[in-house]
Amino acid sequence: MKNVFIRAGDRGMGSELLEQLRIFGITVHEIEAADEVARLVSAMGAGLLLSDCARIDREPAFMAELRRLKGELGSSLRLVFYADRDDFDTRLKAVRSGGEAFFQLPVDAPRLIDRIDALFDRREIPPYRVLLVDDDPEQLEYNALILRQAGMAPSIASDPARVIPLLIETRPEIVLLDMYMPSCSGSELAALIRQNEAFSGLPIVYLSVERDLERQMGALVQGGDEFLEKPIKPEHLVASVAIRAERSRTTRFYMERDPLTGLLNHTNLAERLGTEILRARRTGSVLSFAKIDIDNFKSVNEEFGHFTGDRVLRSLGRLLEERLRRTDVVGRFGGEEFGVILPGTDGRAAARLVDELRGNFGRLLHRVDDREFSVTFSCGLAAYPEFLSAAELGEAAARALGRAKSEGRDRSVVEAPRA
Ligand code: GH3
Ligand code: MG
Ligand code: MG
Repeated sequence: MKNVFIRAGDRGMGSELLEQLRIFGITVHEIEAADEVARLVSAMGAGLLLSDCARIDREPAFMAELRRLKGELGSSLRLVFYADRDDFDTRLKAVRSGGEAFFQLPVDAPRLIDRIDALFDRREIPPYRVLLVDDDPEQLEYNALILRQAGMAPSIASDPARVIPLLIETRPEIVLLDMYMPSCSGSELAALIRQNEAFSGLPIVYLSVERDLERQMGALVQGGDEFLEKPIKPEHLVASVAIRAERSRTTRFYMERDPLTGLLNHTNLAERLGTEILRARRTGSVLSFAKIDIDNFKSVNEEFGHFTGDRVLRSLGRLLEERLRRTDVVGRFGGEEFGVILPGTDGRAAARLVDELRGNFGRLLHRVDDREFSVTFSCGLAAYPEFLSAAELGEAAARALGRAKSEGRDRSVVEAPRA
């Protein structure tokens, strides 16, 4: 949760801007005095104070107190100023008062939110997901415990046959394989994992007593990436796994993400739809897939420029990510088309959710110079098990989207299964 402080009664930015911040999951607190900022920050972790530049001259005591606090709290307190004019002197004043960003009124909400995102430390790092495979349950539990104590999220398999379902379910960022197991060898298991295209980039590390270089090489040819020798000291295990998982996460991020919005790209969204369907089938659950397309986006570009168009795309991506649950998957197909996977949600509930988002997005005001505009989107939805495969869901959602467009846009349509 992100926290923004404003001075009580400081409505210079307009209450409608504050409302827009709330839509993006940012909590706005009104404060009376500087010491309240300190109290709130220590209670909530971090915060950002949005202040009128005019206060710098008007309230020197408040500003001095704020500067002192900033020195004390460091990056836990961010200062952002706004003013009704944008000139060198005003900006300099803001900088000298510790301001880290500056906005001229009226403030464009998506732009402000972009800056708030950048100023707050990036979202906390989720624990590394590691899959441990070993036929010895004690060894397995022990290694899992060590990784868990180091803040990671290990899952374990003592039966090699469980490995593929676990890969789908827990989506590990690294796999540690025992080399010698009764039912199959580690290198056979590695080869089996690599047969699956979705796991071709997954780092596989053998954890083994094997010291024979030739046999190690043989195992690496099968699909593993490297060897860690057993027994391994706990701190070495933790460090080795952390380094590899971090690298794996970074590469994966850039391979999977769309650079403009940071959302999953087309290929990976489709892949996730496949694995989420498998999961729903296994757990006897439902799932919805939504295809979202911005309405008349071409005219946004034509009237306000491509750069503004890009910002509109980012704001929609940001809104989808912010307002959906952690289990939901958001991606961008390219252009002005987005896709959302909603596990555990049937078509009707998904439509309700999308309609709420649609309302929020439509109320968002975008500003360019002194012009203001808003944008809407249309959405087509289809659900599993009414449609069974990723391809069928995708096609059904696209058909529904087509109907939403032809019926007048700014609406969502759920595709009913063919009788
Ligand atoms: P409709 O309501 O029928 O969806 O109309 P539309 O104008 O949104 O749809 P159309 O498919 O005709 O136009 C999509 C436009 O999206 C055309 C293209 O210039 C623009 N676009 C695609 N990708 C990007 C992008 O990355 N950035 C920006 N700014 N514009 C993009
Ligand atoms: Mg469109
Ligand atoms: Mg389109």
